[in-house]
Amino acid sequence: MKKYSQIVRHSGNLPLFDILDISVAGTLAGIPVHVHAEGLRGTGKTTIIRAYKEILPKITRIKGCLYNCDPARPHCPEHRHLTSDQIKKIGVEQIDMPFLEISPSAKKGTVVGSIDLSKLSSQDTPEAALLLGTIPKAHRGIVFVDEINRIADTSPEIVDLLLDVMGTKPGRIQIEEAGLPVLELPVQVSVWSASNPDEEPGPLEDIRRQLSDRFDFTVKVERPTEVWIIKKIINSNSIQDDNVLATQKTMQFIEACNTLEQYEPTNEIKNILSSIYVDYKIESLRCIEACLLGIKIRSALLKRSPSVADLVFVAQSALRHRVDFKELNDILKSLDQKDVSKEVPITANSPAESISNKHDTAKTTEINRDKNQKTIPFNLDSVKNLFRRFAENIKSAKDEKRIMNISNSNPENIKLKAPPQKAIPIDKLDVAEYVKTDEELMR
Ligand SMILES: [Zn+2]
Repeated sequence: MKKYSQIVRHSGNLPLFDILDISVAGTLAGIPVHVHAEGLRGTGKTTIIRAYKEILPKITRIKGCLYNCDPARPHCPEHRHLTSDQIKKIGVEQIDMPFLEISPSAKKGTVVGSIDLSKLSSQDTPEAALLLGTIPKAHRGIVFVDEINRIADTSPEIVDLLLDVMGTKPGRIQIEEAGLPVLELPVQVSVWSASNPDEEPGPLEDIRRQLSDRFDFTVKVERPTEVWIIKKIINSNSIQDDNVLATQKTMQFIEACNTLEQYEPTNEIKNILSSIYVDYKIESLRCIEACLLGIKIRSALLKRSPSVADLVFVAQSALRHRVDFKELNDILKSLDQKDVSKEVPITANSPAESISNKHDTAKTTEINRDKNQKTIPFNLDSVKNLFRRFAENIKSAKDEKRIMNISNSNPENIKLKAPPQKAIPIDKLDVAEYVKTDEELMR
């Protein structure tokens, strides 16, 4: 199992790192961010996801609480009625942010909770008690569901649970067991998942669109394409585990969580997203909410004002599973027709302006602020160009899939291309052109 610091970053997997960073910082701040990683076998998506376990920050809970009660907002049946003084007496402790997995063969009882048979059959003090399942135990942390498209196809019970957990922020879970009162709990869990859309039963959005829409972001993970990257990956086992890098990442999450409120997306970004939603008739408002949240957390992680680059970056992962190529083109048209820059008066300086930009890596794409006029001339061309490139990307991916589907079904549907040179009948050829000696073949 590769360590976080040993994983080689390249253009095919970098977006997943960036989106998972957003999710961790969000989870720490109490806002779940659900992420679905899609990619072919061998692209390393599950390796990256599991490596995040090493760099997760700690959370503080009421001492010994298996539900991970936040001392400031206790929610479990045992602690939710206690006063702060009573909680102080119990004490608090720091634990690693939970990271638990739901396997493709998981049953509802193990995911939600079931009756604790060891307590029920205890000879001294038999009692009906609850054995907590994966989701309530992961409160304030992450639950990873590998091969989510298979689960969506074969386990409707688990899908219903995930829909409840991911439906609102925080989500809800209901634990019902014969002999015990029904327990309903708020759950604050970020769901991470992975799937290979080219394997049976196919892409998640085709199997259970409702579940697919619950993911704030869907990230495509691709193979590396450059030789030097492959060489680096081959040698990466010998790279020393770098604790410094892991510690720096953890600190970055904590700082982003503590400063999050200073990075509210600006009005012009909200205007652009609103016009995309309306003009383009996006089915789910979750898409826009995911973009706004993503931009805010990403800016806090990078310690700089929300930028056009942030908008386009998060929009790609927020739109990927919600629109098709035609709709993306409609977005471009709507951006062409609407010059939002003329509509956005600024009433006050953004708090983000006062933040040091010494870590600014995307200064060139930042919004150009004109303080004298109190308006923001927003460069729509850069947004449009980035969306256009993204649209082309989606188009080629969909074309590839269409060709694959055709070739898997009816060979008569395959459009054959004629060879570049016109064929010549064999009787018109000289013998030397189609009969070769051994020596000629060896040349
Ligand atoms: Zn508790």
